[in-house]
Amino acid sequence: MSGAPIYKRVALIGLGLIASSMYWAMKRHGLAGEVTGFARSQETRATAREIGLCDRVCDSALDAVEGADLVVLCVPVGAMGGVASEIAPALKPGATVSDVGSVKKAVIEAVGPHLPEGVHFVPAHPLAGTEHSGPTSGFAELFENRWSLIVPVEGSDRAAVERVEQLWQGMGALTDEMDAEHHDLVLAVTSHAPHLIAYTMVGVADDLRRVTDSEVIKYSAAGFRDFTRIAASDPTMWRDVFLTNREATLEILGRFTEELFALQRAIRTGDGDHLFDYFTRTRAIRRGIIEAGQDTDAPDFGRVKKG
Ligand code: NAP
Repeated sequence: MSGAPIYKRVALIGLGLIASSMYWAMKRHGLAGEVTGFARSQETRATAREIGLCDRVCDSALDAVEGADLVVLCVPVGAMGGVASEIAPALKPGATVSDVGSVKKAVIEAVGPHLPEGVHFVPAHPLAGTEHSGPTSGFAELFENRWSLIVPVEGSDRAAVERVEQLWQGMGALTDEMDAEHHDLVLAVTSHAPHLIAYTMVGVADDLRRVTDSEVIKYSAAGFRDFTRIAASDPTMWRDVFLTNREATLEILGRFTEELFALQRAIRTGDGDHLFDYFTRTRAIRRGIIEAGQDTDAPDFGRVKKG
């Protein structure tokens, strides 16, 4: 499935999971002419060259963005502002700058002021990922049937927004537009708070491991294993997410703590009805996600091979 390229020249700044998946997907679907790439470490650039990630890997961010029609910032949220200020002098008039950061309000505040007039800024966030990171972790199918949220800023050029949207659709994603504040609240519920809870649960189990002599690891059941997968996510990325989406995450964690206390009380007082009703409600949410095609109904999340 390939058509005419949407952009002649694309530059990817940061060459980790998301950038490498974008590269393979753009190439598979013929969405970009030449793709240049830059990563801050010599090691990542060498790996990228070795595995053919990007048509041209540059030794400076300025070289990578020179002449690019689209520049996508694929670095941790906390690094976006610094990268934007570094590349600003080399941006082509009329070019579009986008990003893939998991938090939007903070990225817009950090990047926006550095962009020269005549350069379009179209922030975006693909809701797709794995617990792996780095240049070798990407794959072309990562975005297929996943949402990618486009978060236009005030005064965003419509044609530039629609072109970024087309690029994501070309990579197999479903797209929607959202404002930054709403994005950050939705993501605090669906992604950020759940990650923090997983980190906490695995941390608690790690403390217990010393008491139970590794039984927590040895007999780890499906529920705990799923927490460990989430808690294996990149520490830099997630540190930055919590530091930059502080308000929304704290709001959701406040509500979470209240619900947790209510469940704790139900357990202590033997209120089975409360527990049963609660679990019935949550089970329906799982059904909704499967019906929306955002996960598999296979036992053990499809890990157990059939037949
Ligand atoms: P990743 O695999 O860890 O790659 C990050 C890349 O950014 C690397 O090339 C790294 O360079 C570079 N980098 C790190 N710190 C930097 C700094 N201070 N200055 C310049 N470059 C720096 O990360 P990723 O998972 O692709 O995530 C990239 C962005 O996508 C993040 O903003 C994240 O919030 C967002 N995102 C992630 C996911 C996910 O599930 N992983 C999903 C959606 C969106 P070196 O390799 O040279 O260190």
